[in-house]
Amino acid sequence: MILSLEPVFQQTDGSLPFDYSFALEDPLIGSPVRVVGSVYNKTGIVHLEATADYTLVAECARCSSPIRKTVTVPVSHVLITHENEEDSDEYIVVDGAQLDLDALTAEDIFLAMPSRFLCSEDCKGLCPYCGADLNTTTCACKAPGDPRFDVLRSLMNE
Ligand SMILES: [Zn+2]
Ligand SMILES: [Zn+2]
Repeated sequence: MILSLEPVFQQTDGSLPFDYSFALEDPLIGSPVRVVGSVYNKTGIVHLEATADYTLVAECARCSSPIRKTVTVPVSHVLITHENEEDSDEYIVVDGAQLDLDALTAEDIFLAMPSRFLCSEDCKGLCPYCGADLNTTTCACKAPGDPRFDVLRSLMNE
């Protein structure tokens, strides 16, 4: 969605609420992205405050089980209309008061995305010896004090 922000920039109490969805083509994104929030002018400074929700579709880096969960990403920026000389990394420059909210939201989503995913923080992963999924089963290799485990370990250390 392209937001026309001219009125928000001109009125010190202007605001533009939005609640919409857009399609973001990516293998990791399994739903339309819903963006809810507003752009508002607070004593001459224009803020964008929103959240973006989508369904993450990925694979656990430890056990390879499918992951499907809703992720919420904050989309929070100060908007300015023209670039100034100072470092403007923290501001979003809006050309002609037109903001491509889909593109900005997509950027925030990918910046917030971790490089790998886990089905849960304490995922036990797969047994490195027999490949059993240790979240759902136990295998002989895992038993503490199992002599076979010691043999394998000493082999690997050599
Ligand atoms: Zn896992
Ligand atoms: Zn095993």
